[in-house]
Amino acid sequence: MTTPSAGRSAAPLPYPRRVTLALRPTPLQPLPRLSARVGRRILCKRDDLTGALLSGNKVRKLEFSLAEALGRGCVGVVTCGGVQSNHARATAAAAARLGLRCQLLLRVDDPETPPAPEGNTLLDRLLGAEVRWISAAQYAERQSLLPEVAAELQARGEGSWFVVPEGASDALGSWGYVACAEELAAQLAPLGPDPATVVFAVGSGGTAAGLHAGCQLLGLPHRLVGVCVTDDRPTFQRRIAGILDDLADQYDLPLRAEPERIEIWQEYVGRGYALSRPEELRRIRELARLEGVITDPVYSGKALHGLLSELERGTTLPEPIVFLHTGGIYGLFPKAGEIAPLL
Ligand SMILES: *Cc1c(COP(=O)(O)O)cnc(C)c1O
Repeated sequence: MTTPSAGRSAAPLPYPRRVTLALRPTPLQPLPRLSARVGRRILCKRDDLTGALLSGNKVRKLEFSLAEALGRGCVGVVTCGGVQSNHARATAAAAARLGLRCQLLLRVDDPETPPAPEGNTLLDRLLGAEVRWISAAQYAERQSLLPEVAAELQARGEGSWFVVPEGASDALGSWGYVACAEELAAQLAPLGPDPATVVFAVGSGGTAAGLHAGCQLLGLPHRLVGVCVTDDRPTFQRRIAGILDDLADQYDLPLRAEPERIEIWQEYVGRGYALSRPEELRRIRELARLEGVITDPVYSGKALHGLLSELERGTTLPEPIVFLHTGGIYGLFPKAGEIAPLL
């Protein structure tokens, strides 16, 4: 494996086929009042603005996953997620946009008593996705369950179905964040050659893998900090390095996947996946009122809480600090009851 030298090679990156779904480039906006409050220069990369229904980081990944589904002539896509999965909603919206059918496997406590449609699941259903409710035990077997369901649908004789993995976080989907690294590099270039810090939420690792790959391939010096919202640091270091290895193998890229060099903050998972603490919700309120930017309780709000907590503790990071807003706004609505006391 070679180490890319500083500065990018003249050859363009070998992107796979892509279908346009996201509104790109997303803005890189200053957060002047937040920056003044914490005494650091913080910018926001607004990947929540990739679209309305097509809001958030999954949309960049789906540009590659769904181009592959279309290229193979599939009639539909199958994917999975938690009950309020942003990835599932983005897949449902993208499928509807592209004339594909969509089968979702959504994890709930009790598949016999599914929740009423709200937030993302309301949108999934409006967009025509078929929803199958599955238990946590079934979800643990998703790697085998997804292709089984695709085969079952295909057996109806209406055509083949494409499997998009959880979060579209495989080598193919991670190209979306290789492209985002390239987009961000162009936006940061006028600020000078110094390294910046990019902080983002980590849930299934595809965003992190794509950013790491993009920065390596383009010779960018930025410090990448993933704030995990479930599991722990070693789990994500392994998972992200695994995606980087797959990228290197499948596309013949000169990538180094050294798990111990992948920076993950594991201190901000809090009460667990999709569970909130009051201090996290107060951060969401703080950014909303200071800057008119809404983060979500499951991902971007936890990453924000992690970043601001570290800055308050005096942690130094190269500046500017780019807070990558990965979306998730529809996950806010099912939490209205918890947020109401803060209003
Ligand atoms: C899925 C998701 C993430 C995490 O991205 P991964 O690529 O799965 O690590 C972050 N923020 C939001 C809003 C998400 O929906």
